[in-house]
Amino acid sequence: MAIVTCPYCGGRISSLMKSCPHCKEELDDLSPEDRERLQSERWKEKLFRASQLSFLALALLLFGAIWWWFDGPTGWDLPPPLGGVLLVFFGAVLYVSARAWTFWLKLGRNRPTTRR
Ligand SMILES: [Zn+2]
Repeated sequence: MAIVTCPYCGGRISSLMKSCPHCKEELDDLSPEDRERLQSERWKEKLFRASQLSFLALALLLFGAIWWWFDGPTGWDLPPPLGGVLLVFFGAVLYVSARAWTFWLKLGRNRPTTRR
């Protein structure tokens, strides 16, 4: 018996199980090739979501910076508007998380195994 990753939800399951206890998908009729294909599809999906997230974060950052610039007398005046600073702050945190997620996904052990 081995512990494998469910190709549908990514949960850890026993290789002897006929269906996944997490997402209830049938695993019995899946060939090893199907499992690999599903796993690599899921991985690409996550990578795509991570890149979307980093774009969203950049948009937040930019919007916050513009808000700060145009609030009150134009320029980086202090104290900055709270809304603008919050957007810049969340944008920066989100961007770093998205980049970290991308980096983590691209680590060798998190990449799906592919033949050929
Ligand atoms: Zn599952």
